[in-house]
Amino acid sequence: MNLAPIGILGGTFDPIHNGHLRLAIEAFEQCGLSAVHFIPGGTPPHRSAPCASATDRLHMVQLAVHNNPAFLADGRETYRADACYTVDTLTELRAELGSQQPLCLLLGSDAFAQLHTWHEWKKLFGLAHIVVMQRPGQPLGNTMAQADPELLREYTARMAPATKVLHESPAGHIVVLNIPALEISATDIRRRCAEGKNIHALVPDAVAHFLHHHPYSSC
Ligand code: ATP
Repeated sequence: MNLAPIGILGGTFDPIHNGHLRLAIEAFEQCGLSAVHFIPGGTPPHRSAPCASATDRLHMVQLAVHNNPAFLADGRETYRADACYTVDTLTELRAELGSQQPLCLLLGSDAFAQLHTWHEWKKLFGLAHIVVMQRPGQPLGNTMAQADPELLREYTARMAPATKVLHESPAGHIVVLNIPALEISATDIRRRCAEGKNIHALVPDAVAHFLHHHPYSSC
């Protein structure tokens, strides 16, 4: 029996915006996912501390997904005291969802190109498929031309041309999808908030409303 894969979208979500939601919708439709877990990181190992608290970032994710029953705000990393590694989160999800459930880690091509720097990165392939979301202007081919040799080896060995494989095994393949460009970034939204500018149509209305009452100061 084939199980529909579940997508995992990690991020800082400082704040969640329409670019993140579009990415999840594209992955959901193109891969035939049954659900997407949005997992805001608590203490990101790869970057400086977020501006909004972990609680506020999770709350904004909850507001952003509340009208889509297939999208889940998953707070499992929010209150973890130690560093949050994707390998630990996927191990936890694998234990909860069972060894046969296909899992798809959704990554932008920029993030994928740095995968070899992630904690215990090779274990990720035993836990999930990786779906690389390629935006216009960020073609994966260009990036991989200069990629780490070990990452390039894994990519070449695991790359599959069609999303069908995501339904046929629980983990281990890499699929590249094209998604449309939405020139939205959390950095730009924080700057607009700090300058008192309008952020409607960049984030869901409920998130814009929340940020209106809990604005970012410069950080
Ligand atoms: P920041 O501007 O603070 O760096 P961000 O907007 O890139 O943040 P993250 O939380 O770091 O948001 O992103 C989580 C994931 O969403 C990453 O895989 C990233 O590539 C992807 N992503 C971010 N913005 C977009 C967008 N506009 N379109 C598609 N994917 C996006």
